[in-house]
Amino acid sequence: MKITTPYYLIDENKLLRNLKIIQKVRELSGAKSVLALKCFSTWSVFELMSQYMDGTTSSSLYEARLGYERFGKETHAFCVGYSHDDIKAVAQIADKIIFNSVSQLDYFFDEVKSTKLGLRVNPGISYSHFDLADPVRKYSRLGVTDRHLLENNLARISGLMFHYNCENDDFNAFSQQLDYIGETYGDMLKQLQWVSLGGGLYFTKEDYPIEKFSQKLADFSNKYDVQIYLEPGEAAITGCAELVTSVVDLVYNEMDIAIVDASVEGHMLDLLIYRLSAKMDFAASGQYKYMVTGRSCLAGDVFGTFSFNEKLAIGSEIRFVDAAGYTMVKKNWFNGLQMPTIAVRRLNGTTEIIRKFGYTDFINNLS
Ligand SMILES: *Cc1c(COP(=O)(O)O)cnc(C)c1O
Repeated sequence: MKITTPYYLIDENKLLRNLKIIQKVRELSGAKSVLALKCFSTWSVFELMSQYMDGTTSSSLYEARLGYERFGKETHAFCVGYSHDDIKAVAQIADKIIFNSVSQLDYFFDEVKSTKLGLRVNPGISYSHFDLADPVRKYSRLGVTDRHLLENNLARISGLMFHYNCENDDFNAFSQQLDYIGETYGDMLKQLQWVSLGGGLYFTKEDYPIEKFSQKLADFSNKYDVQIYLEPGEAAITGCAELVTSVVDLVYNEMDIAIVDASVEGHMLDLLIYRLSAKMDFAASGQYKYMVTGRSCLAGDVFGTFSFNEKLAIGSEIRFVDAAGYTMVKKNWFNGLQMPTIAVRRLNGTTEIIRKFGYTDFINNLS
């Protein structure tokens, strides 16, 4: 079946590879894994994902509701700042509510005390290549920094959440961090039932030492007698999707430039935010070099410069890989560009068109 570009294509067999690693870590370590919905919310593949994961974690009421309704299993609800209306709705569906601050816990405690509660901690250590995404950056509002404040509130909560990594593929760095967390917060953890180590651990990456990682988690869990949760986002869906585009024009300005029927700004926004180049599946070693660009009016709407094996022509297909995490959740209608269709290649090899977007979606996005 030929799908009209632009479209996102999620491949369930590639997803399954990651899910099986997650499953293995669950079995070897006893740690549970909940999907971080802020990274990936394309619920048409949740049926597959939910067989290998323990539930979802969220950043808002709507994400919590999505996890509860479409993924099932455990629903963890975190939000940097709940409103009173959020809390009323979240209390109906969440298995755990995790507060970002002691003031929010104080404010809503009476209303939610029958639910398992947690506090997010800012442990003062992190692993991140970007200040923008560093949870312990200077003046960070993310999590409780004051140990005494945590100690004073242990009776009201059953667990702590630490989220302090971003694309950490270095097991030794993780191992040292975990030792530090044990040394610093272990006495508190012994009085609690669960600890979440957050996301940002790249343990589905090729060559990551899964056995050592699982052993480290199991040892920690035994030592402090807590159930560990991991909150993989990117690690769960990395390498599973493509953004498939077609060249609509070729221009020249000191170099060959291809313009495709999608946009970095609209359809792979994180590349702009973090100033990264898009990735392609093939070794970029051909002799035909092009800057591949989007069709929004933004001058810097550039996917990257690639060396193709063949000359591009109008209609040539260009596929960008790694188009699932922090990509589909951030797509937007800037410039009113055609929104990529969402397609899924199922485990049995058939490709389904899940959703097409049209003018009605565009106008309904505003009023
Ligand atoms: C972003 C986030 C995650 C997921 O992070 P990844 O880097 O996608 O694994 C997990 N937990 C919390 C609290 C987060 O903010």
